Amino acid sequence: MPVDLRDPVRLLLDTVLADARVHEEGAVADYIPELANADPDALGIALVSTRGVPHEAGDSGVEFTIQSVSKPFAYALALDLFGIDAVSEHVGLEPSGEPFNAISLDEASGRPMNPMINAGAIVTTSLLPGATADEKFAVVRTGLERFAGRELGVDEAVFASEAATGDRNRALAYLTRSAGTLGSTAEVATTAYFRQCSVLVTARDLAIMAATLATGGVNPVTGERVISEDAARWTMAVMTGCGMYDASGTWLVRVGLPAKSGVGGGIVAVQPGQFGIGTFSPRLDARGNSVRGVAMLEALSRDHGLHMLAHREEPLSPIGALSRSDDGMETVAALRGELRFAAAEEVLTRLAPLVRDDGTLVLDFSSVTSVGPAATRLFRALPGLLGPVEDRHIQVVLHDPEGVLDDD
Ligand code: GLN
Repeated sequence: MPVDLRDPVRLLLDTVLADARVHEEGAVADYIPELANADPDALGIALVSTRGVPHEAGDSGVEFTIQSVSKPFAYALALDLFGIDAVSEHVGLEPSGEPFNAISLDEASGRPMNPMINAGAIVTTSLLPGATADEKFAVVRTGLERFAGRELGVDEAVFASEAATGDRNRALAYLTRSAGTLGSTAEVATTAYFRQCSVLVTARDLAIMAATLATGGVNPVTGERVISEDAARWTMAVMTGCGMYDASGTWLVRVGLPAKSGVGGGIVAVQPGQFGIGTFSPRLDARGNSVRGVAMLEALSRDHGLHMLAHREEPLSPIGALSRSDDGMETVAALRGELRFAAAEEVLTRLAPLVRDDGTLVLDFSSVTSVGPAATRLFRALPGLLGPVEDRHIQVVLHDPEGVLDDD
């Protein structure tokens, strides 16, 4: 991908990356022996907007194993296929407040607490179609490739290394199997899961994958719909509560973006409706989250106001112009911008008292770019609300040449 040196977003990412280099603490994961070979100083970041424009800095094109960053995407595939209710019978939605490899099963149901810890991720992969590990992995791999928009390789050495040392994960699989929540044998589930964790990605791939969640399920680079809007929203919700393991609460306060980390050094973060970010730096903190990745995302969020719950300034009034016919019978309001619930509420409560009891209210949507579902419902209800009520007979005309009010 050609690098545009005049790209202002890239300059910003360069600064964030340079600032993160001061962090020398943390250590490369070595409980999977092969991961210990990672370059501890590798550092990359990429940001892809929902319009599919990539911006990247540092080692954003260097491949590493996706590890637990695969979990939300495998979960998204399961949600897309089976829906939240069916999947939730096997794996829960609650933050565990425990490390990623904890024996964290709900006492009553035997379900893992959530799909972002290993127990829940192994169950999630076990639910995907296919009778064998190879078949299940093929489903995961194809899904990850559609999220990333390119073919992805597998690091066979990391796979072999985890397969040789992954007894704790096997134990989790056997426990969930005995509780009746695993969708396959323990061997099939863990083999598919180990391969899933060994898929090779770059920070750029992660940014595109995250951006695919940000758009509500459409890969903004390829234009392909990968999962449903519901599946994207559910996935981001679980990432928000559980994506950073036992650091999830602190993360939510300090960064405030749905995210997921992996012990290969990757992190994805999503600003819904705006962009996805992927970071890569293999040195991990005690919880298994990339030290420099966390530092970069904290800095971006703090310095650029990216927290998803940050207070947004009041938008312009949705009423661009207001006019009244000479005889006072017709009130015309030209609406503008993006109308969501609060905008519709403002339009209705400000205009209704201005219209004569036997007059006409024209709402002109020509300059409106989009109308949210709640706002659409309010506007559609308006003729009934203002219409023949006692001695009021207000006619309501919704002038909508572009069809922004289409319920959809
Ligand atoms: N493959 C790793 C494991 O199961 C993934 C863990 C992680 O990235 N946090 O131990």
